[in-house]
Amino acid sequence: MVKNVIPVSYSEALDLLNERPFKIIAGGTDLMVQRRSWAQTPPKFSEDVLYIFNLEELKYIKEVDGYIVIGSTTPVEDVLKNKLTPNLLKAAISIMASPALRNMATIAGNIGNASPAGDTLPILYTLDAIIVLESIEGIRELPIKDVITGPGKHIIKQNEIIKELKLPISVFTNSAFEKVGGRKADAISKVSFTGAVNIKDNKVLDFRIAFGAVSATILRRKDLEEKYVGLTKDELIGKVDEIVADYDPFVRPIDDQRSNKEYRKTVALNLLRNFIETL
Ligand SMILES: Cc1cc2nc3c(=O)[nH]c(=O)nc-3n(C[C@H](O)[C@H](O)[C@H](O)COP(=O)(O)OP(=O)(O)OC[C@H]3O[C@@H](n4cnc5c(N)ncnc54)[C@H](O)[C@@H]3O)c2cc1C
Repeated sequence: MVKNVIPVSYSEALDLLNERPFKIIAGGTDLMVQRRSWAQTPPKFSEDVLYIFNLEELKYIKEVDGYIVIGSTTPVEDVLKNKLTPNLLKAAISIMASPALRNMATIAGNIGNASPAGDTLPILYTLDAIIVLESIEGIRELPIKDVITGPGKHIIKQNEIIKELKLPISVFTNSAFEKVGGRKADAISKVSFTGAVNIKDNKVLDFRIAFGAVSATILRRKDLEEKYVGLTKDELIGKVDEIVADYDPFVRPIDDQRSNKEYRKTVALNLLRNFIETL
């Protein structure tokens, strides 16, 4: 018989996770859909369920030592409204799902679901987010790119929980998040794009590009970005064809029910071109 457990504290959640396997539920906006059964019957879970959304200890957004730190049960609507939240993350959340969903959905759930179309993920990659995983054995802090390993796949252990995310505070003079979906709200991305640049005294100090839904995990290539650091703004814009050509072989989307690979690739590279040309 499957048990639904609501821990009263974070430490109880960690103890329970150490005792036996559980499926963690935060907002449930992915899991309740994935495990749905017939109309008017509850969703089906084959494993015990640990419901963590009510853990107030993990609901926070604060600035600590150069990072914005977001507790894992903070609903994305609260993240959206908080003045500490980076603008790029706000841009992604503001067009994520719908207000009702945003009051339940969490960024940790977006990470746990590990979909290449998850809207907060290109932002987390762009911002070099660090994911803090905790178990009773201790804490692991890993860059987001080392946490997600493929569609629906991650390295979070059975006895671990995403405790919080740490976003290094970054300065960008130009940044953009673009999402292409079937409609304006409640749509999963066909393709998404994030660009962030810091130009000071006409020198490119920082250049970051990420794509969602064009490869098995979010596409970000620091080796390509580094080629363009140190240029002037006009030199960067003048290299737009080269930049698009650099990314072309790595943009390898698939066909699925939402879109086809030709459309996704064309749109992704056009979004990159447009971002650079309009800097
Ligand atoms: C109508 C609708 C519209 C949607 N629109 C969008 C959209 O526009 N963009 C988008 O990106 N997504 C969208 N989604 C998907 C979903 O809302 C997001 O992925 C959301 O971020 C999931 O968060 P959650 O807390 O509800 O996750 P849950 O469903 O609770 O969990 C998802 C996964 O993460 C794991 N998990 C959750 N919290 C933790 C934790 N602290 N530690 C370890 N593992 C954890 C769970 O075990 C599970 O595997 C939509 C969903 C619906 C139903």
